[in-house]
Amino acid sequence: MPELPEIEVSRIGIKPYVEGQTVTKLEVRQPKLRWPVPDSIYDIEGQVIRSLKRRAKYLILETNIGYALIHFGMSGSLRILPESSVPGRHDHVDLHLSSGTVIRYNDPRRFGAWLWQAKQGKRLQVLENLGPEPLTDAFTSEYLFVKSRNRCTTIKEFIMNNSIVVGVGNIYASESLFMSKIHPKRQARKLTSEEIEIVVESIKVVLTTAIQQGGTTLKDYTQPNGKLGYFFQELQVYGRTGKPCLVCNNTLESIKIGQRNTVFCSHCQK
Ligand SMILES: [Zn+2]
Repeated sequence: MPELPEIEVSRIGIKPYVEGQTVTKLEVRQPKLRWPVPDSIYDIEGQVIRSLKRRAKYLILETNIGYALIHFGMSGSLRILPESSVPGRHDHVDLHLSSGTVIRYNDPRRFGAWLWQAKQGKRLQVLENLGPEPLTDAFTSEYLFVKSRNRCTTIKEFIMNNSIVVGVGNIYASESLFMSKIHPKRQARKLTSEEIEIVVESIKVVLTTAIQQGGTTLKDYTQPNGKLGYFFQELQVYGRTGKPCLVCNNTLESIKIGQRNTVFCSHCQK
């Protein structure tokens, strides 16, 4: 499942191909994604794409009249292709641009989404109640400390809660807590302000590092088989249950927290 770094790297990769381009045609071959693709999304045809932004895990194509929101779900990805290229089985949406390029959306499991938010329209529910972006100045240790005080939840579930901070999924929650040396099952409200500060800093570092690692693979994205959305990363704990801790050599353990598999080092994380 793509997390915030993959989405951000996709945004950086696609941005130069879409900004300033006019959408000549939108082709939806399969409208049954996580939610049905709304007919209103065809309003994008004839519009100039002013910017490509990201909010949480949504890519947002901004036009003068509204925004197309793209979510990758479990298996979505985008490619930049010449218009003449023939779509494959899971290529559900094509965005044709005045440059003769097509932005093609592929999603075998169809848990992703294409939505339309009209500028004057009612705000989409998916954009409501979102916490700050983790890599902005709005996400501070003071903010997280205040939010954590009355929470009867584990620190792992707390930082994965989108209304607290967006874009910290299972992989980066596990990695951030390992870097913080904090046990993922600790109660959020029992962390000291110093510990909360370390958690905030770790979240910023692991996400920034992942985006930088992904950025190095950007050149592959316009290749015929290059998919915008996934890249290999070096992770410290995620996916390494039973393997030695890279810091202390202790065997990494895994537990379920809120139904999500959580890998940690019982020696390093207290
Ligand atoms: Zn360890």
